[in-house]
Amino acid sequence: MRYETDVTVIGAGGAGMAAALSAHRNGADVILIEREEESGGVLNQCIHNGFGLHYYRKDLTGPEFKETLEEELATTNVKVLEGTFVLDVSKDKKITFVNSKGIHEVKTKALVMTTGARERHFNSLGIPGDRVSGIFTAGVAQKYINLQNLKPANSALIVGSGDIGLIMARRLHLEGIEVKGVVEILPYPGGLERNVQQCLRDYNIPLYLSHSVTRVEGKNRLDKVYVSQIDEAGRIVPNSERVFNVDALITSVGLIPSVKPVEFVRTGPGFITTNTNQTTADWIFAAGNCTVIFDLVDYVAREGEKAGKYAALYAKNEYVPEERITIKKGKNINIIHPSYIDPNESTKLYVRVSKVFQRAEITVEPLGIEIIEEEARPSEMIEIHIKSFKEKRIKEIEVSAHELG
Ligand SMILES: Cc1cc2nc3c(=O)[nH]c(=O)nc-3n(C[C@H](O)[C@H](O)[C@H](O)COP(=O)(O)OP(=O)(O)OC[C@H]3O[C@@H](n4cnc5c(N)ncnc54)[C@H](O)[C@@H]3O)c2cc1C
Repeated sequence: MRYETDVTVIGAGGAGMAAALSAHRNGADVILIEREEESGGVLNQCIHNGFGLHYYRKDLTGPEFKETLEEELATTNVKVLEGTFVLDVSKDKKITFVNSKGIHEVKTKALVMTTGARERHFNSLGIPGDRVSGIFTAGVAQKYINLQNLKPANSALIVGSGDIGLIMARRLHLEGIEVKGVVEILPYPGGLERNVQQCLRDYNIPLYLSHSVTRVEGKNRLDKVYVSQIDEAGRIVPNSERVFNVDALITSVGLIPSVKPVEFVRTGPGFITTNTNQTTADWIFAAGNCTVIFDLVDYVAREGEKAGKYAALYAKNEYVPEERITIKKGKNINIIHPSYIDPNESTKLYVRVSKVFQRAEITVEPLGIEIIEEEARPSEMIEIHIKSFKEKRIKEIEVSAHELG
């Protein structure tokens, strides 16, 4: 089959469904492509609540969030192709994809990439020991339990205290799996404070901060995990070793944005975009976890919506940015998104600081924006709103964080 459309969206997670809807609302013909048999992405396996508090002003589970978007999509003429894998995106705006009916091509005017992120694997940590069964990424363990009704372990240790690690600690515990602790190499938890309380403290699951896994052992199945304390210089503290007898190690050690199959735009490691979600190829837009890892699906859906809107306007020749201003990471800033702004449009700037602050002052110069954040930490994304502006002499904007004490 050969298709022609205004906007193609690749990946039907929260970002992609929101992008497709918004492109449709802005007058575009839209094709939404998803490799899995069902749309929804990560939302399908997150059966806990805490989704949609900002976007829908409702406390939804992941599947409920997805169903709300899906119901809206069903009222449109957006063509949703599920069970369809995109193989190639060429510079001449042709997208090649495969499904049970064969290999097909779509010629598009604009493209929105919403391909999400993949999990970093345990093997990438270089921890010595036996390569046994029983070592799962958090996403795989979550899929087994929530989607396939399987119990992957009897006892487990979790490495990584980001939100996914914390939520999985509670999920395993509720499934009757003995969770012996969560190990975190940093001196502070990687996830939101509300998740530390609701997923660990409420269930008396210990959190070992400044600790790391140093060895794994077992014959066929995992049997022992060795954990030691780590000092400020990153060295193992002598005589601090503990041994955990567990048959599963669940790793939650980071997500890596998925930028395939587009190879010819700038990434770092996710797609680098403007505030209008445009990448370095002017017809390709990107949103959600394939750009930067967001804390909440609410931000992801909002970004998807924006990407869909500008892709539709681009397809109709109604959006051509005149200039791009670079946004630079200043002192104590670890992550900033987007990397460029079109000053004619407003911006939601997402910032992660690089260390824990009691009271942080975040400045955006030369725009003279100053915001105060109590207990700013790297795990919590800070949102800064920048209005559109017409000051043509500004070539670069710098964001920095300082301790106010
Ligand atoms: C355990 C866990 C707990 C979470 N808890 C919360 C919470 O409490 N509250 C909250 O707001 N957020 C939470 N989140 C975060 C939120 O779920 C995600 O940020 C969001 O769903 C990501 O959406 P996305 O569309 O960017 O990516 P994804 O959901 O990953 O979607 C990407 C889609 O692209 C598809 N795709 C990729 N490549 C291709 C290709 N080549 N061809 C076709 N399709 C392709 C994938 O199959 C997938 O469906 C949680 C996440 C996890 C993992």
